[in-house]
Amino acid sequence: MKRAAELLLRIIYPCKCIGCGKLLDIDKDKWLCGECAEDFKETTGQKCQSCGRPIDHSGKCADCRDGKIYFDKGFCALEYKGAVRNAILKFKYKGKFRYSEYFGKILSDYAAGNIAEKYHYITAVPLHRSRLRERGYDQSELIAKILADSMGVEYRTLLVRQRHTVPQNKLNKKQRQENIKNAFIPAENADIEGRSILLADDIFTTGATINECSKILKKQGAQRVDFIALSSRSEES
Ligand SMILES: [Zn+2]
Ligand SMILES: [Zn+2]
Repeated sequence: MKRAAELLLRIIYPCKCIGCGKLLDIDKDKWLCGECAEDFKETTGQKCQSCGRPIDHSGKCADCRDGKIYFDKGFCALEYKGAVRNAILKFKYKGKFRYSEYFGKILSDYAAGNIAEKYHYITAVPLHRSRLRERGYDQSELIAKILADSMGVEYRTLLVRQRHTVPQNKLNKKQRQENIKNAFIPAENADIEGRSILLADDIFTTGATINECSKILKKQGAQRVDFIALSSRSEES
C-alpha cells in the first residue's frame, strides 16, 4: 500500500536527478540517475590520515602537514566534484533544502561504516544569523540532525558565528584563514568541557573553517573533536 502511494506520488510529482536535473523513471531511484550515481560512490583511493580527504600519496595532505590542526580526525564521505558538486550547490544556494533527506542518509551511512568513536554531542558549523535569514535554512544543521538521530547522539548547538564572513569559496587559502579567524564563539550555556564532539559540515576545502571551530572547542576544554564532511575536495584541485 505504501509502495502504491509512493508510485502515485511520483506520477504526480516526477523526481528529477539532483545531479543533472534529468527526469527519473518512477520505478528507479528517486534522487539520482545511473550516471550521476557513479559520482556518489564512496571514494576508494588513499586518504589523508588526518582529515580524510582524497590524496594521491600516503600520509597526510599538505594542509594537515603544514598548519596547526586542532581536530583529532576527519571523515569525508564524498569527493566534491561532478554530480556531487552540482547537487550540493543546489542544496546550499538554490533552496533545495529537501535534499537534506538524502545527504543526511549519506552522512549516516558513512558514519555507520567508518566511525567507531562515541560522542557526547554532534554539532554543525554554524551559519551567521543574517545568512540564515537570507537562505531560510541551515543546510549543515539539517544534515547534522539526521546524522545525530541515526547515531543516537544528542544534537546540540555549541558554537555561534558572531562575525559575518565573506563566502570562503571566493578566497585563497591564506585569505580563508584570515577571513574565518575569530568568527566563532561558544554558544551560551554550551557544555563543552571534557566532551567528545563530532562537528558536521557540507564541504571540506582547505579545512580553515573546521579547524577554527575545532580550535574554539578545544580552548573550551573539549576532550576530543572529530569532524565529518559530506564532501571534500581532493588535495590537487
Ligand atoms: Zn543525473
Ligand atoms: Zn589532511
